[in-house]
Amino acid sequence: KKITADDIRKSVAENDVRFLRLTFTDINGTLKAVEVPNSQLEKVLSNDIRFDGSSIDGFVRLEESDMVLYPDFSTWAVLPWTDNQGGKIGCLICSVHMTDGTEFDGDPRNNLQRIIRQMNDMSFSAFDIGFEAEFHLLKLDENGKWTTEVPDHASYFDLTSQDESASCRRDIVETLESIGFEVEAAHHEVGDGQQEIDFKFDDALTTADRVQMFKMIVREIAKKHGLYATFMAKPLQGQAGNGMHTNMSLFKGKKNAFYDQDNEFHLSNNALFFLNGILEHARAITAVGNPTVNSYKRLIPGYEAPVYISWASKNRSPMVRVPSAEEVNTRLEMRSADPTANPYLLLAACLAAGLNGIKEEKMPMEPINGNIFKLSEKEREAAGIKPLPSTLHNALKAFKKDELIKSALGNHLTQSFIGSKELEWNQYTQTVSDWERNRYMGY
Ligand code: GLU
Ligand code: MG
Ligand code: MG
Repeated sequence: KKITADDIRKSVAENDVRFLRLTFTDINGTLKAVEVPNSQLEKVLSNDIRFDGSSIDGFVRLEESDMVLYPDFSTWAVLPWTDNQGGKIGCLICSVHMTDGTEFDGDPRNNLQRIIRQMNDMSFSAFDIGFEAEFHLLKLDENGKWTTEVPDHASYFDLTSQDESASCRRDIVETLESIGFEVEAAHHEVGDGQQEIDFKFDDALTTADRVQMFKMIVREIAKKHGLYATFMAKPLQGQAGNGMHTNMSLFKGKKNAFYDQDNEFHLSNNALFFLNGILEHARAITAVGNPTVNSYKRLIPGYEAPVYISWASKNRSPMVRVPSAEEVNTRLEMRSADPTANPYLLLAACLAAGLNGIKEEKMPMEPINGNIFKLSEKEREAAGIKPLPSTLHNALKAFKKDELIKSALGNHLTQSFIGSKELEWNQYTQTVSDWERNRYMGY
């Protein structure tokens, strides 16, 4: 799968690529892009595209705001549609470097690579990730702005071949496949207008890169269908929210280090230790995996989203589930994160927590059998089951106290994450909402 500079030159010529879209990700998980005409190809290929990082969220460092893009050639993809003149757009995902060539430590992608190197030092070869990012398709109003009206009222796995969402979904799948994704499943989710498209697991960096491309493609194709795609955690009150289930396993060479045939759940000791690391740092991980005010409106009972820090082999109510699977697919499914998370930060936090669990060699709590939501508070306490944070504010408090998760982000990213999220929380608490007016105006 190695792609060389020459492969890219060839592909540019063969596909009539006229623009090169160089992307990277800011602290909030937003994909940023610099687009240059193909006359700049040689500069792109020799890490010579510069930009001013001072206005990117989380990058601010006024004294040294000039930054350089180092494209990762293996991410090369030619978008299947054309610009107005019939030319195509080629995309490269980049790492952000300083002008002296060193890695910029405020780049979430560089940071994930740093934690992956720590994993390699512990003799694991790969952290494999499968994301299940759910989203909603919404109708537009006459000005082209999103509405809360959905294009369909289908439900889980419904076969509604006629409606606009189904045709949009197929279009997304075909586009993804044309740029090299292996799409394993695409279906309607439980909520009105809610969709899920899953692509095959791969190593953490590749999957984080792909989910960023995935979101870009979903948004662009939805627009072509006159729809709006949102990955907001809970766009419609009283309906299912959007999760981003994170399926995790560690590999040693070709061997899944999470698999042990003799264990009752087919989990190795390393898998159980890793799981314990995740559970112990669950509250801080939630800040990273559920980073918006709205994220916490999804983490409530009744919508297949988790509320409690616990695990189970089968049922879907706890934070981590162990899906039944054969050897290579043995994995832990963390069900708490949502697709507003920055995937690079999320995976760095999960990996660091899990590796620390492996170092500590502590077994996790007993798995839950049955529905946690049916237990009384007393029963939950007796079983040692704690809740996930109930608000962004509480999650941030846990994050600020968790030295391990902070070190998984590194100093620069930790500071910009806290800064950006505290600002968001403060804006929210100062907002007077319709709910309040309706509730209190008569007082
Ligand atoms: N939409 C659910 C959530 O918020 C998940 C549904 C599922 O199990 O796929 O996490
Ligand atoms: Mg789903
Ligand atoms: Mg799932």
